[in-house]
Amino acid sequence: MTSPIAKLSFWGVRGSTPTVDPATWRYGGNTPCLELIAPDGTQFILDCGTGLRTLGSRWGAADESRGQETHIFVTHYHWDHIQGLPFFAPLYDEKNHFQFYSFRSKFLGKDSLRQVMETQMALPYFPVDFSAMNAKRKFRELEDSETFHIGKNKVTSRWLHHPQGCLGFRIETSAGTVVYATDNEPGDPDLDKSLRKLAEGADIFINDAQYSPSQLATSRKGWGHSSWKDGVNIAREVNAKTLVLFHHDPDSTDRMVDEILANAREDFDSVFAASEGMVITLGASNEPVQAHMAASRTALRRGAQFRASVSGMTAEGRKFEEETIVRDLSLQGALISLHHSPLMQSELQVTMETPSADGTQEMRLRCYVVRIEEGAEKGSTAVGVVFTD
Ligand SMILES: [Zn+2]
Ligand SMILES: [Zn+2]
Repeated sequence: MTSPIAKLSFWGVRGSTPTVDPATWRYGGNTPCLELIAPDGTQFILDCGTGLRTLGSRWGAADESRGQETHIFVTHYHWDHIQGLPFFAPLYDEKNHFQFYSFRSKFLGKDSLRQVMETQMALPYFPVDFSAMNAKRKFRELEDSETFHIGKNKVTSRWLHHPQGCLGFRIETSAGTVVYATDNEPGDPDLDKSLRKLAEGADIFINDAQYSPSQLATSRKGWGHSSWKDGVNIAREVNAKTLVLFHHDPDSTDRMVDEILANAREDFDSVFAASEGMVITLGASNEPVQAHMAASRTALRRGAQFRASVSGMTAEGRKFEEETIVRDLSLQGALISLHHSPLMQSELQVTMETPSADGTQEMRLRCYVVRIEEGAEKGSTAVGVVFTD
């Protein structure tokens, strides 16, 4: 029996501003952008941070599975949630239809999102103006607690607690419910209650986890964000099944996010830290979560010694061939066949034997699980890992 499947892709997971620091590459540096394809084919995009550009560049021309129209939900107008818009190539193609949803900001008035886009592209901030965007665009402004249907999916919006306002969204599909609640600070009793209603029984609850609980209590109080602990508390109270920690601080290295994730996993069963390239499928009967890392990420280098034969062309234009030892190998990841099935986003230690001048030596590598699939051999698991420091 096949079940209807919803596919949730993470294109940007970083809060506040993009990062290119190598210490943040594993979780990713693009600002918020998610994509949800519902079982009925409806395509939702949640937020338009810099991750939106990557989504646009993978926008296959012949993607028949995509519906007529794409539905783009913008939580609020802070830079990190809109800065991908001018770089979203499908907006320049007249064949595409977009329906935008956002809210009327009291600072901008009617047609707030349209104004935001026009201003982003006003001269001299961008080389072409808004009229260069040829795709069909419609704009709808949502209210608090508004509920409506798109295809076979039910959508609800609710206010979150954030400077200048922010909306949280709940999307109920036939494969399960996804709740997207980023940019929220706990502490407003009415909005805290409202968020719990939004997240009630969610299969996937994506929550702001920018700061540590101690930062949130002190130096970052009032900045409009949450910690992993708030997400865990809410997930427990409302019986959410899986919590996804989101909107990582630009100053949080991968190691710091690992620690945040480890803390949250001590208190709640099913937790993931949003990572760029991660895909979560809902409604599948087997393993519901898969995470992928983009292949273009910076490779890490490890000293190693492998015997090799090298052939090529010299500077003088002569062909050559020689036996040598490769001493510096770039390793990004590996696929390992195991009889155990490790936890997604957990660490593995791998020791490999490599030949050296006096016999063999051991190369120890730490890695991080990004993918788990059924192995080629019966009873085995193919485990995709990336190497970490
Ligand atoms: Zn943000
Ligand atoms: Zn914000």
